[in-house]
Amino acid sequence: MTKQKIQKFDEILDASNKSIFHSSRIVSEPIIDEISQILNKAEVVFVGTNQKGISSCWVCNKCGFIPRCQRCDRNYYLNDHGKLKCPICGQTAKPEDNCPKCKNKIVKYVGIGINRLFSEMKKLFPKEEVLFIGEEKKSETRKKYVNGILALKRGIVVCSINFFKTAKFNENTALLVFLNPDKTLFLPDFNSYELKYQEIAEVISRDYKIMLQTKYPDNEIIKLAVKNNYQKMKKNELKLRKDGLLPPFYHLIKFMAKDKEETKAQAKIQKLLNNLAELNFEFPLLLEPYPAYPEKIRDQYRFNLVVGFKDQKIKNHPHFVDIIRNCSLEKINVDVDPVSLL
Ligand SMILES: [Zn+2]
Ligand SMILES: [Zn+2]
Repeated sequence: MTKQKIQKFDEILDASNKSIFHSSRIVSEPIIDEISQILNKAEVVFVGTNQKGISSCWVCNKCGFIPRCQRCDRNYYLNDHGKLKCPICGQTAKPEDNCPKCKNKIVKYVGIGINRLFSEMKKLFPKEEVLFIGEEKKSETRKKYVNGILALKRGIVVCSINFFKTAKFNENTALLVFLNPDKTLFLPDFNSYELKYQEIAEVISRDYKIMLQTKYPDNEIIKLAVKNNYQKMKKNELKLRKDGLLPPFYHLIKFMAKDKEETKAQAKIQKLLNNLAELNFEFPLLLEPYPAYPEKIRDQYRFNLVVGFKDQKIKNHPHFVDIIRNCSLEKINVDVDPVSLL
């Protein structure tokens, strides 16, 4: 039997409105109600989020301390084994019982990790079948999980958002819920809005009823994605890119200097800037050295410098060719048409 598919976005829930949370701190009541109704009709619900592990970070309730990976200068997230894990280098640490800074006993977990969502769904619907599929499964295990999902007649599947993109949903599917698309929404990169648009629009365009829970329902890009308004997003983005002298109107080269010592990485990129200045070439865009994001990865400090140009003339400038050649000696990465400026 083929179910009736609803070809429209259904509901956007404002996660900053505390009054819509009753039975759960992370899943709002309208979503819980909708899931209950769907389960009563013996159908299947997919609930996805884009955060790995249990939560995005561990925060001291008193002083706000967040443990970070010393090698990468990034917050640890809490993985599915309850360990703190670096999202970049994978280094793990045991969460301490008390805050290492102020010795406070109470800590809170921020963000909805997929494993936390799985426990929450089992708690909210103890009598229902709740399946789980993360991203780190080996292909054989994954196949087994997918087969289990396809055979599910009634129940809940907790998955990563990437699964939404590729999934074959089983024929009993009635609802997709996307919780917390907010991660990476405000990354200060030139294409972060476009990427966020794609992430949400890919879910929205699936042929099912959709519910989205976000802290930023009024954010322009979320609104456009929800309406599947690609033309408007494209128009807005192109205007910003044109004004910002960015691709596709300009070509970019990102130089990244790395070193175990912060001052050395900085000095390398500063020297490169001086060399570029000596070319007497007017780059329409020249972003002066700035720390990469994250600033440190695997004990290496990283600094960027970006130049933009309209035509390819600069590439034939003999001294520019020398500069590029010299970069490999200095171990400076040269990224032509970079996908990220961070
Ligand atoms: Zn503390
Ligand atoms: Zn790390």
